[in-house]
Amino acid sequence: MDADVIVIGAGVIGLACAERLAAAGRSVMVLEAGHVGAGATGASLGALMPHAPHATTPLAAAQRQSLGAMPERVARIERRGGTATHYQKVGRIEILASANAAEGADAKIDAAATRWANLGTTRLRRATTEEVRDLAPHVAESPHGYLLDDVTAQIDPPAFAAALAAAARADGAVIAEATPVRHLAADAAGVTVTTDRDERRAPLAVVASGRAVPAIDGARAIPMTGVKGEAMALPDHADPASRPLVTGPGGFAIARSDALYIGSTADKTAPHENTVTRDGLAALAGRCRKLTRVDPDVARKRVWSGIRPAAPDGQPVVAPHPDRPRVILALGHFKTGLSLAAGTADAVAALAAGADPEPPWDAFGPRRLWTTHGANG
Ligand SMILES: Cc1cc2nc3c(=O)[nH]c(=O)nc-3n(C[C@H](O)[C@H](O)[C@H](O)COP(=O)(O)OP(=O)(O)OC[C@H]3O[C@@H](n4cnc5c(N)ncnc54)[C@H](O)[C@@H]3O)c2cc1C
Repeated sequence: MDADVIVIGAGVIGLACAERLAAAGRSVMVLEAGHVGAGATGASLGALMPHAPHATTPLAAAQRQSLGAMPERVARIERRGGTATHYQKVGRIEILASANAAEGADAKIDAAATRWANLGTTRLRRATTEEVRDLAPHVAESPHGYLLDDVTAQIDPPAFAAALAAAARADGAVIAEATPVRHLAADAAGVTVTTDRDERRAPLAVVASGRAVPAIDGARAIPMTGVKGEAMALPDHADPASRPLVTGPGGFAIARSDALYIGSTADKTAPHENTVTRDGLAALAGRCRKLTRVDPDVARKRVWSGIRPAAPDGQPVVAPHPDRPRVILALGHFKTGLSLAAGTADAVAALAAGADPEPPWDAFGPRRLWTTHGANG
């Protein structure tokens, strides 16, 4: 055997699983087709904000659990790997964009008091215009008011991926880049993983290859697609101060010391076209104007796109493959891979130790995908 566990994919999900398994004393080998953070992870923005507090889905619960684990996880990763992730609990200003949104705010505040209990102290409250101006001078005017949370955080995605890789390596993991996996074959004793160059074998494999899933001999295919996201950075509006994230309908803004970041579009129509379109650019500029006082047309800007890995129903797949239980799937993290990384890594570590998945993680098996669903979310 080459390792206790072979992990396929070095995006944030594969790396978080590798780090967690290596920290638990397993020998881990990561096989990555490109380089660390080559997929959606490298295109992402690093917003770590929970689903709305009234959301009661397993995904919302899993994400809250994962976000609650982040401060401790990040501290361990930074200590072990010796590199910074730039994780920061900055909070979030939500622009109440309509009279309806303003009316619903009290119910949201009440729901946050219980559902976000593991994430912050005040959780969610209304904020005055003066307070918002003081906290984040770039925020757009809002005639319907603002909400402020103290639960949202941000992280630098490439730094997070690099820090996870460094921590995993410090615990003995081997990360082989430029090593695409062609297929897997599992038997009673282990899993054989065939790469472009050779074969590797381990008792367990974790498939965390985002939207591209290598074939698993004799097992049903996992339907996975991509949802393109475009994003924009405005370096002229860099801000060295620590500012809350800003959200409004359809988008968010993150102020950082190198740029103001605006995210992000969601285009399901061309899942394999990783390009920024004229429409995408216009949508980002529109978001920038709604969320901030910054004029995106006069500023220098950098725009890019990435393809989010998504199952047809928009929920992640975190479970042993029902046809080949030695193959654990960690796929389809869609819009929230960074915020789910710690939770998915814990769930995968528990599965690797032979435990049954615990709620809410027991909702993410792939059987649900072998019946027809429309994409959502
Ligand atoms: C514009 C944009 C903004 C986003 N912003 C946020 C955000 O603010 N917060 C958030 O939580 N999420 C955000 N996301 C979503 C987030 O990027 C994803 O959920 C997350 O990166 C998924 O991670 P992953 O490791 O599953 O997939 P990926 O990052 O795609 O990693 C999969 C890896 O597997 C490798 N691979 C594929 N096939 C093979 C193979 N056969 N053999 C070996 N390796 C293989 C790929 O090269 C890749 O490196 C954003 C996404 C986009 C596009």
